Amino acid sequence: MGRKFLVGGNWKCNGTIEEVKKIVTTLNEAEVPPEDVVEVIISPPFVFLTLVKSLLRLDFYVAAQNCWVRNGGAFTGEISAEMLVNLGIPWVILGHSERRSLLNETNEFVGDKVAYALSRGVKVIACVGETLEQRESDSTMEVIAVQTKAIAERISNWDNVVLAYEPVWAIGTGKVATPIQAQEIHCELRKWLKDNVSPEVAESTRIIYGGSVNGSNCKDLAAQPDVDGFLVGGASLKPEFLDIIKSAT
Ligand code: PEP
Repeated sequence: MGRKFLVGGNWKCNGTIEEVKKIVTTLNEAEVPPEDVVEVIISPPFVFLTLVKSLLRLDFYVAAQNCWVRNGGAFTGEISAEMLVNLGIPWVILGHSERRSLLNETNEFVGDKVAYALSRGVKVIACVGETLEQRESDSTMEVIAVQTKAIAERISNWDNVVLAYEPVWAIGTGKVATPIQAQEIHCELRKWLKDNVSPEVAESTRIIYGGSVNGSNCKDLAAQPDVDGFLVGGASLKPEFLDIIKSAT
């Protein structure tokens, strides 16, 4: 069976109740390819998860942007995977580069989070990607392999994992990877999965691209054989997000 295209919208730390309602109305009124062609996941800030879930069309899903590394307790400011389950939130984004760089989340910590969320039944979009400095020193694949290995060492079932290749130099910069650059890394990452996990996992795991995807560049990226969808930041707050969803067909 082929890999179903997946488009995630990461709203990051943006939005008011009014803006959330407006974006959700736009999404709800849109005609997009059916759910068996494209899986759409909307990731608002924690405080809007319930509101978005209550208003959003039923063929789109909701993701949190992070969760704690184990069960709840004395961890001020954190949200546990159990709480996401309790709210009926099926997905979580983990290891986003903003959390890795601004909040010092290590590969091991991200790997532990991925394993814990999966163990609670929350599906994971796990982000990996290199900085500009790392790309320029030709260590892109090495960096991504180390990040992915920290996840692979901690999980045994990849069914509920999507990998998001998000080059840090492309996130929020307007500097998108070319389709050739994206395909090259996605293909290498799939090969890494084949060699280090299993051919089956390599074949079935979706690898989505993130980094300045917009309504104009999505089609060419989506045409690449190893690009199985997108994680979208800035453009997910705009009507062009619908064009990105439609690039699945
Ligand atoms: C992201 O935050 O995951 C992202 C890819 O952001 P942007 O699309 O704005 O580059």
